[in-house]
Amino acid sequence: MLERITHLRRSLATKELPALLVTSAMNRRYLSGFSGSAGALLITPHHTLLFTDGRYTIQAADEAPDYDQRQIVNPGRLLTDLLKEAVAELELTTIGVEAAHMSIGEFEQLRRVLGDAVTLKPVDGLIEPLREVKDEQEIATLRKAIAITDAALEAVAPRLTPELSERQAAWLLETALREGGADAVSFPIIVAAGPNAARAHHQPGDTPLGSGRPIVIDMGARLNGYHADLTRTLVLGEPDAQFWTIYDTVLKAQRTALAGLRPGISGHAADMLARDVIIAAGYGEAFSHSLGHGVGLNIHEGPSLRRAPEGKEDASPQLQAGMVTSIEPGIYLAGWGGVRIEDLALITPEGCEVLSHAPKLR
Ligand code: ZN
Ligand code: ZN
Repeated sequence: MLERITHLRRSLATKELPALLVTSAMNRRYLSGFSGSAGALLITPHHTLLFTDGRYTIQAADEAPDYDQRQIVNPGRLLTDLLKEAVAELELTTIGVEAAHMSIGEFEQLRRVLGDAVTLKPVDGLIEPLREVKDEQEIATLRKAIAITDAALEAVAPRLTPELSERQAAWLLETALREGGADAVSFPIIVAAGPNAARAHHQPGDTPLGSGRPIVIDMGARLNGYHADLTRTLVLGEPDAQFWTIYDTVLKAQRTALAGLRPGISGHAADMLARDVIIAAGYGEAFSHSLGHGVGLNIHEGPSLRRAPEGKEDASPQLQAGMVTSIEPGIYLAGWGGVRIEDLALITPEGCEVLSHAPKLR
């Protein structure tokens, strides 16, 4: 945790910012370990303060031992009151606030309480880039979440029958995740059968899984705040010829991207590794989303593996060792269905390590 704070302090120094108020719950958890539902951090070159309320006195002390805890004990008091006291005590005249994680109302209220003597400076992207490169502890947690996810799908797949509805299949998967040790699901599980599989983010309903048609399953275990993400496309019974054409194209696109991932490649270039395979097969238009996204405390975070907009230069971030990203090409055909295959990969100094091990059809 102290190493993460040191990295942030370096960024604050570069921006000549004497303090940062952290109001994003994920950034707060990343920098302090405190996972409660309410609270904020104030970080300066020499102080780390954690503000929270009476529900979290014990939890915050346990989870964030590196922080000086300031409590709201009297229900009439607000976080802004605590902050005002701390700002006076530390003699701060400028504080950075997370522009992406504070409403205009909160900003105005804070400005009113702190008064003219303190300048609030909206800043962006100070903590999120740090979170993109995972440390050993984060990678270990992600490995566990991924293993739970793989095991849940492997346990449930043989129990799927054509009569089972998408909703029932999703519940079997959710139960298996929880029984396997997940704290929660990373996101509502997607089970999309037949033509429903043409919708990348279909919500499971009463449609039976059926036989001979694609079934897209997208699921993940959440563990200690970290999110796994896995997609497999299955089929019960004998699929039609088109299925294998589409499946093999998506699989080839995914393998090509995984073979090309390495530090230094841009998110755009990574996307194009897979997209070129799908375009060459004649399904370019049917790959309707980006190749992948980072995972961590958020299910979707940086780096984004997305092609640059038409006619624009590639300004996407370069991949670095320690990033964990999904690689999830897909082809979606209205009326027929779709195929998506998604693994999580850890960027290593030499290339990448595929962390997902759930079996594929080929
Ligand atoms: Zn997914
Ligand atoms: Zn994903």
